[in-house]
Amino acid sequence: MRPDLFRHIITFDDALRQVIAGATPVTGVETVQIADACGRVAAADVLASMDVPPFDRAAMDGYAVRVADLRGASTETPVSLTCVDRIFTGDVSTRVIGVGECAEIGTGAPLPAGADAVVMVERTSSSGTCVLVREAPRPGQNIGRRGGDIAAGQTAVRTGDFIGPARAGALAAVGATSVAVYRQPRVAILSTGHEVVQPGQPLPPGRIYDVNATTLAAIVQQHGGRPVPLAAVDDSIDALAASLAHAATCDVVVTSGGSSVGGRDLLLDALQCCGTIVFHGIAVKPGKPTLFGHVGDTPIFGMPGNPTSCLSNAYILLIPFLRTMARLPEWQPVRHTLPLGRAVAALADRHQFYTVRIVDGVAEPAFKSSGDITSMAAADGYIEVPAGGVGYAEGDLVTVVRI
Ligand code: AMP
Ligand code: MG
Repeated sequence: MRPDLFRHIITFDDALRQVIAGATPVTGVETVQIADACGRVAAADVLASMDVPPFDRAAMDGYAVRVADLRGASTETPVSLTCVDRIFTGDVSTRVIGVGECAEIGTGAPLPAGADAVVMVERTSSSGTCVLVREAPRPGQNIGRRGGDIAAGQTAVRTGDFIGPARAGALAAVGATSVAVYRQPRVAILSTGHEVVQPGQPLPPGRIYDVNATTLAAIVQQHGGRPVPLAAVDDSIDALAASLAHAATCDVVVTSGGSSVGGRDLLLDALQCCGTIVFHGIAVKPGKPTLFGHVGDTPIFGMPGNPTSCLSNAYILLIPFLRTMARLPEWQPVRHTLPLGRAVAALADRHQFYTVRIVDGVAEPAFKSSGDITSMAAADGYIEVPAGGVGYAEGDLVTVVRI
């Protein structure tokens, strides 16, 4: 044990500031199909090369009419028109609507020449080609104008826009099949420790399955990165340094395990050999034995091996870091204000991210131990308990951040 190694523990706020300061937004650009664009960030303005809609169209099912024919029309004094055509979506009428004429028209069908309004079918009654209209429409009523949604030359999606379903839809509307987006940061995921075995392999005595590679890859994928899983590495300075050097060809490296002060916790030593250290140790629980540094220009996160410590740190440090790198908008987790089911004490020197499960509108403490993945897997979120405070009593209203 080498407890002296934790001499310079920093606060969570300082850790977050230093981590964000190390996040350089990606500049590389790639082109993806529209179907793959959701979750990405536009790397160029997309200018519409066409009007959307490409023609004036009916916004209602009804009749295309001439406003001049219907002045004074009302329920009491309906005006009779002659229906000269039926226009469905996808059709283009060859008729010109003349004085006293109208055409039946469906929502989205092109407006025929001569018509300047659409009367909704509910304001009419018909018998054969005779249509009684019970309202006097305004010019342009119930018409979607050509280019009224997006005009040719307008920007359908801007550089830096996060592309969600609606913006992917705007790209489809202008007929785009692909879009330029920022490249996703490649995040090397490196589990350390002689005991770690990949699921699917037989589990020899004394070994455990690798949890952190899965949780970290999931976080990376959900927050704009591309996980690059690497083979787990044994606890030796040489093996760790070699793996770090290889992993540093990615944009970011996230290791787990070996970051504490045990006899086999050698990540610090390896990083001292092949890189630089920004901080070691954060005053949080779970997640104290965390390292942050660089190999070359590549940021390295040394997460603790305990699955809940590792994942908790991924939520509070890696997500904001990655989203900055990936140019994604700041993460806004869902928050609830709920009464606490049982008292949670504050710690003198560590800010706690304490997991809770929501049961019938009450935040029930769910934290077991840092080594138990169910501290998070059986929880719905966490509350923050500031260091040195009074903690929370049963029934206190707390803010639950969903995970
Ligand atoms: P360490 O941080 O290496 O001291 O490990 C702390 C605890 O986390 C030990 O019980 C390890 O066996 C466990 N651990 C380390 N890495 C992993 C991993 N990838 N998946 C699950 N547990 C791990
Ligand atoms: Mg270990």
